[in-house]
Amino acid sequence: MDRDTPITELKGVGEKTARLFGKLDIRTVGELLAAYPRDYEVFGEPVKIGRAASGEVCAVQGAVSGIPNERRIRNLSILNVVIADESGRLQLTFYNMPFLKKTLRQGGFYIFRGLVRAKGAVPVMEQPKIFSLADYDRLMNRLVPRYALTKGLTNQAVQKYVRQALAGCAFEPEYHDPALLEENQLVSWREAVETVHFPDDRDSLIRARRRLVFDEFFSFLYLMRRGRQLDRQLENRHRMPETADARRFLEQLPFPLTKAQEKVWREIREDLAGESCMNRLVQGDVGSGKTIVAVLALLTAAANGYQGALMAPTEVLAVQHFETIQGYAEKYGLIFRPVLLVGSMAAREKREAYRAIAAGEANLIVGTHALIQEKVQYRSLGLVVTDEQHRFGVRQRELLAQKGEDPHILVMSATPIPRTLAIILYGDLHLSVIDELPADRLPIKNCVVNTGYRPKAYRFIAGQVAQGRQVYVICPQVEGDADDAEGGIPMENVVDYAETLKSALPADIRVSYLHGRMRPGDKNRIMNQFAEHSIDVLVSTTVIEVGINVPNATVMMVENAERFGLAQLHQLRGRVGRGEHQSYCIFVSADEKAESMERLEILNKSNDGFHIASEDLKLRGPGELFGIRQSGEFSFRVGDIYADAGLLKQASEAVDRLLAADPELSLPEHGRLKAHLERAAEAGVDFRSI
Ligand code: ADP
Ligand code: MG
Repeated sequence: MDRDTPITELKGVGEKTARLFGKLDIRTVGELLAAYPRDYEVFGEPVKIGRAASGEVCAVQGAVSGIPNERRIRNLSILNVVIADESGRLQLTFYNMPFLKKTLRQGGFYIFRGLVRAKGAVPVMEQPKIFSLADYDRLMNRLVPRYALTKGLTNQAVQKYVRQALAGCAFEPEYHDPALLEENQLVSWREAVETVHFPDDRDSLIRARRRLVFDEFFSFLYLMRRGRQLDRQLENRHRMPETADARRFLEQLPFPLTKAQEKVWREIREDLAGESCMNRLVQGDVGSGKTIVAVLALLTAAANGYQGALMAPTEVLAVQHFETIQGYAEKYGLIFRPVLLVGSMAAREKREAYRAIAAGEANLIVGTHALIQEKVQYRSLGLVVTDEQHRFGVRQRELLAQKGEDPHILVMSATPIPRTLAIILYGDLHLSVIDELPADRLPIKNCVVNTGYRPKAYRFIAGQVAQGRQVYVICPQVEGDADDAEGGIPMENVVDYAETLKSALPADIRVSYLHGRMRPGDKNRIMNQFAEHSIDVLVSTTVIEVGINVPNATVMMVENAERFGLAQLHQLRGRVGRGEHQSYCIFVSADEKAESMERLEILNKSNDGFHIASEDLKLRGPGELFGIRQSGEFSFRVGDIYADAGLLKQASEAVDRLLAADPELSLPEHGRLKAHLERAAEAGVDFRSI
């Protein structure tokens, strides 16, 4: 068995289970092994009942101190049992498990593990898991992996298959030079993968993770830098002096540019007209107004007789940009002759677009990765702009650039990264920062609340919808999976939550949902409906994070906010507060622990993306490095550019040395590494649609 072996070869995986895995994009043994745990459950020492703190998951050991009491409410059976030790009493509540009456006899001694809540005189543990002393002993202090699941697939089942795959899979031989592993203190790939699934302890998990992260950074940086001479400045082959068009457009705009926008526009102008070809990254927080700056550059290209291309990561964003620019063109008489090019267009429309592009009739081409298809031939591509670029492989950016002869390149990103990291991640790009929001913005009003606040939040949402506004609700999961509700902190999911909201809100409010596992066509349809206001409340996973602009949306409610990185929550918050109306953010935390609340309070107090990212990092322990995604925008699977900045630097140095010694990897000792990186390149070229 190797990594390309279909999972159906695993014992016990039949067609039905394979279909469930298919929903998680797992089809081969390799994909199963690459589906690292989402986090780990630690079975700590049982505590005295009197010490079981409210809001925490813990294990207690105690004797059943009374006769279990069953109540029925319609179809629901509620079983209450009290346990006690010398330090106190605790009530256990089980739903729909009436058979436990027989197991939990008075005087029986067990370990119970679950979330404790303060409720009246005696605290309550709901739906705990029950262990015998011997069973618990075996689990104690182990890190038990918890996988992303789908309905019908339990965590235990996934564990079982992963074990089987680890035992049976022939791993590819180590591809890194032993000296490199030694120098960077990295474990072997095989050890890393085994440990990440079933760690012995926290230290070995951290070591395993280091290797995975290093490799991820290494492949990325190698593929990005390969074939590029970083120190060479390309000559400017398309001089684009400033024309009256840009100035006239600015005079007519209803608002002045902010100082920061002006500064960046000056830098771009100088690049376009200067000695060397532009290669610039514009960083600006969500809502800082990056689009206008790009439009000014594209307008200057068009005025100089060149074609400009604007590539966005999703169809919805591409269409939005297209409509915005077309709107400007009509209103202000701009010289744009724009065409749109996205995957879902009919073949006939596409052919017409190709023709207009090849003939040079179109001087502005807006689209998705459809812009880099082989069929698209540009007439005179002089400027390439990519929006929210981290969503594209660097490769896509290069493919687009190759459609012209050294066109100017402008990359726009909302991810706040310090200059030192930007140099590593973007290599030779010059950096411009828009560090100021337009002055007319009403600051977003934030609140951090617990789940008890929901009824109030729903009333508030209904009120906003009644005033004609729209609402986003974010949940961390696509569908429910039983394992999360038990014991641990409940996790909300998009599909069920949309149903809950439909019944909680007035019937005329149009609720719909969106998530990454829907078909691309369906996703587009829903996002368009929301943009056109035929949906009032959109329940979604973080797929809506990227740049969508619906200025009429005024409420962003995030469920299980404790599950997200602060930088990601900040990006989500950027979806509201884009128009004239006062906007609100409601962060709902299901975890009432002081640390979680404190972490979220940072968002409450600051609207500055840089500040938020650095504070978040300070508050996180190494154990949290797997569960929380810091920068949803940089799509590394395990690595985190902030938390792993040190490793990023190490990987960067290793790649530089490799490129200096053997740029094409033609030496025999680099054969395995070459094969490995080629695989990584193939995987990377796939366009990651939202
Ligand atoms: P982002 O940087 O997140 O891409 P956008 O470019 O989409 O932000 O701009 C967000 C909104 O702010 C748009 O509706 C845009 O028209 C508006 N905007 C941009 N610049 C200014 C400005 N200087 N003053 C007022 N509003 C602005
Ligand atoms: Mg944008």
